[in-house]
Parts: sequence; structure tokens; C-alpha cells
Amino acid sequence: MSVASQNSPPQNQSNNTKIRKVDIAVIGGGIAGKACALGLAQLGLQTVQIAPDLGDPVPPPTGPQWGQRIYAFSPSTQKLLAHLHIWDALEHTRIQAVRDMRIFGDRGEGSDQLHLSAFEAGTPQLAWIGESNLVEGILDQAVRFQNKLGQIADTVETLETDADGATLHLKNHAPIQAMLVVAADGANSATRKSIGITASEESYSQSAVVANWLCTQPHLETAYQWFLPGGDIVAMLPLPNKQVSMVWSTSPENASDLLLLKQSDWDSKWRMLAGGAIGKQLGTLMLNSTPAAFPLRKIRANRFIGPEHDPKVVLIGDAAHVMHPLAGQGLNLGLRDVAVLLNVLSKRESFRPINNVTLLRRYERQRQGDTSALLWVTDRLKKLFSGSSNAERQLRNFGLGFVNRSHFIKRRLIERALGDIDFE
Ligand SMILES: Cc1cc2nc3c(=O)[nH]c(=O)nc-3n(C[C@H](O)[C@H](O)[C@H](O)COP(=O)(O)OP(=O)(O)OC[C@H]3O[C@@H](n4cnc5c(N)ncnc54)[C@H](O)[C@@H]3O)c2cc1C
Repeated sequence: MSVASQNSPPQNQSNNTKIRKVDIAVIGGGIAGKACALGLAQLGLQTVQIAPDLGDPVPPPTGPQWGQRIYAFSPSTQKLLAHLHIWDALEHTRIQAVRDMRIFGDRGEGSDQLHLSAFEAGTPQLAWIGESNLVEGILDQAVRFQNKLGQIADTVETLETDADGATLHLKNHAPIQAMLVVAADGANSATRKSIGITASEESYSQSAVVANWLCTQPHLETAYQWFLPGGDIVAMLPLPNKQVSMVWSTSPENASDLLLLKQSDWDSKWRMLAGGAIGKQLGTLMLNSTPAAFPLRKIRANRFIGPEHDPKVVLIGDAAHVMHPLAGQGLNLGLRDVAVLLNVLSKRESFRPINNVTLLRRYERQRQGDTSALLWVTDRLKKLFSGSSNAERQLRNFGLGFVNRSHFIKRRLIERALGDIDFE
């Protein structure tokens, strides 16, 4: 996508004849974009959502095989989905509540363990684990009943902003004029680049291999994570029906090898990995999905609104920030962007239009602290557990044990993981 000046000629003459005017255009069809578009329409704002993958509604998952993309949903996400009237519509037999988290250091000693418990924190659960297409499917169903929301299956090619708002030129449809644009177009956000927002970006030189497993021993509603010597991280997240979802962060070379393993190769992997601790905890593991790998990186946009001189675009979700999945928080953070944007717009003073700069700055200010803190913590943890010197090993393993003994720090950690949003 490129940014066009106000005087540049139309991209596609035949598509420029009828301009469609809306209050808000949301670019992107991931969960952040879908939840945001629905929430904006529920506020009574005429909204259009544009993404190439909006063609057919996502069918909610059925059957014994769980979807490939599994997420940990934090209580802040649950609150947003409930606010959007989505949470109760989800098929709850496909969602697993997490009551405990157990994180193990790389010496394999019992004292290098951090245990976070919902019971100790006085909360019914720490998180829920569920499929991406479960949430996407219900969001798609909700959109059908929303007459303030239109969806266009297309790509935004250029975007121009002026004092009144922004005009989006699409590949195959007429242009759209919106007072405000929400960019939810993912980690490589072309919108972010086109409005001149720079981003700091760093590759972790790791990929995450994800797969679902049937296990013979109960997972005890516990999310397990093993930090392994050499920097690999293996998370096993509980799913209903004695299943677990694996997220194994490892070198890209090892990730490619893991994708090719057969069940018998995996059996010997589990016997060796983390000194056999994973098998001891979960029993025999049977592959129950096709493994897939995702490259891992950190991205933080330097501004969340733009262009700088007269902002008319708001970044949300991975367009604004991408983090290592070790804390399972990327989407949760993106959905907190959505919650804050909905709050800022719904509580605006009657004299402020929705693209008023004071409102947009309120959004940006409220999102900066949460984003920076979470990106910093996950990045530090990732790097601390990748270091191979003796001092680093001792520090991290001592750190796990120390935090485990401190109820105060554990409470703060849990509060951060639960997230905090409020709707009035
Ligand atoms: C292995 C792994 C595990 C993870 N686990 C968790 C977890 O447990 N919990 C959690 O909270 N997060 C997790 N995450 C993070 C989570 O996957 C992302 O944060 C989330 O998917 C981002 O959603 P999004 O809607 O912002 O972007 P995306 O899902 O990337 O959507 C971007 C959308 O923009 C569209 N688009 C792009 N360009 C254009 C254009 N020019 N015009 C129109 N549309 C466009 C795309 O088609 C797409 O629809 C994990 C990530 C990984 C890699």
C-alpha cells in the first residue's frame, strides 16, 4: 500500500465513480479487526471492514480434531467478548479453563519452578484455551445481524488522508471515504508504513511449532511451560477431552525438522526432552493435528496514531505490536486495544467528532503503558532464558524459585496476565 497525496490521480478510474462514505473503515479481517468492526457498529457508527479474507464466513469448528491455531484467552479478552455478546455464544465444550500454570527452569530441579494458581490468586481461572476459528466463526455470525456494519472482501491499495478523514482505494471496489480508519492489517501492516509510522523490529531467530496432542494422563487444567537449555521453550496448554496444544519455540532449522517427524520419532523426542518430564506429566502423547510453524519476532510501532501532522488512522493488534508467544498474550493485547478504542469513542464529549485528535491521543496514551510493559517482560524473559552462560542459568533458575516464594510478585504477575479493562 502506498500513501497518495490529495492531488494524485485516481488509481483505477472505473472504480472511482461512486465513493462510499462511512464513519469508520477497519482494514483487516483477523480477530482484532473483526471484534473492533463489530464493537464500532454496536456503538451505532456506520462501519465498513475490508480484508481479502472476508469472503466466506469462517465455519465454527466441529468434531474431535481441534483447529490448528489455538490461543490462550485472558480474562480481559473474555470481558471484551462478553461486552460484544459473543462469549456466551461460543461452544463452551471446546474451551478449557486454566486453573494453574507451572513453569520449569532448565536445570530440571524441583526448586526451579514457578507455580501460579487461580485458587491462590482468588480468581476462578487464570485463562481459557480455545480455537481461533471458534471465536472467528461466532464473530462472523454476529456480523450478519449488524446492519451498521458492511464487509468487503478486497485489499486496500492506497490510503490518502485530509482534514476530513481518509479515502481508501481498493483493488476491485469503489473507494471508501471514512472519518476514521482503524488499521488491523497485521504485523506487516501496509497502512502503518503508508502513513509514515516507523516500527522497531527484531527477529528472535526462532519459529514456533504448534500441534495438538491427545494425552493419556489428565492435564489437571494446568498450562505447562518448560524452558530448555539452549533457548527452546515448550508450552503444553490444556484443551478439553484430554488434549493439549503444544507451542514449541525453537531454531528455524529444528522447526523444519519437527514438521517432518512421524509419531514414532515424537515418542523418542518426548522421552528425552526436558529429561522426560513432559511425558511423566502428560503420559503418552498422540499427535492429533498437522503441525505448523510460525516465525517469531518482536515489533513495536513508534506511534499508534498517524499521520503525525493530523492523525486520522489508529493502529490496533499486530499492526501496532507483535511479541514472542511465550506469554500467550499477543492477541489479548490487541483485543485490549479494541476495548480501549471502544471506550474512548463511546465516552467522547458530544462536541468531539470521532476523528478528533484529542480522542485519538487518549487512545494512544492509554495503550502505550500496557504495550511497553508486556513487550518488555516477554522480551526479557525470552532473552534471559536463551543465555547459555553459567551466571545466566543461575540467575534465571534462582529467579523462578525466588518469584515462586514471593506471594506479592506472583500476585502482580497474575494481575498483569489477567489484564484489566472496564466497560461502562
Ligand atoms: C505460535 C503463536 C502462538 C500464539 N499464541 C497466542 C496466544 O495463546 N494468545 C494470544 O493472545 N496471542 C497469541 N499469539 C499472537 C496472535 O496470533 C496474534 O497477536 C493475532 O493473531 C493478531 O491478530 P490481528 O487481527 O491483529 O492480525 P492478523 O490475524 O494478522 O490479521 C491481519 C488481517 O489484515 C488483512 N490485511 C493485510 N493487509 C491488508 C490490506 N492491504 N488490505 C486489507 N486487509 C489486509 C489480512 O488479510 C488479515 O485479515 C500467538 C502467535 C503465534 C505466532
